[in-house]
Amino acid sequence: MGCDIDDDIIELHAMGRLKDAALREHLDTCESCRARVEEYRAWIALLKKALQEYHRRRDFVCDILSRQLPDKIDFKIPDGGLAIWAKFHSSIPLPPLAEKLKEKGIILSNGLIHNTSSLSLNATRIGFGWMTEKESAKALDILISTVRSMK
Ligand SMILES: [Zn+2]
Repeated sequence: MGCDIDDDIIELHAMGRLKDAALREHLDTCESCRARVEEYRAWIALLKKALQEYHRRRDFVCDILSRQLPDKIDFKIPDGGLAIWAKFHSSIPLPPLAEKLKEKGIILSNGLIHNTSSLSLNATRIGFGWMTEKESAKALDILISTVRSMK
């Protein structure tokens, strides 16, 4: 038998934030509600894991960039999103850098799309979210050696 308890209530309980004791009691004893609460808990655990992995990948890339190219790239650690907004030093113009990287199989936007007629940002987005640490490390190695070869 189904039970018409609201999804919001189920979610609140799954997160341990439901104040109403009688309702909590129902959710823990009613067969159909219990199953839904369990489903939500599994979903929340999955999200937490994905977020942890995201933070791990982000910190991995940011750490390498700030240690290896401290005077060449200026960036902020993003709170969300799957890319780092990076401003390159004027001695490293992005269009030729992007060209060189392309020859080595690394795709980096040349950043021209972000410029206006009066402003050249020399900035672009460095993606990291969809790469494993191993893939990131390989791409960063190429980025770092290419940037260093340009001074
Ligand atoms: Zn119920």
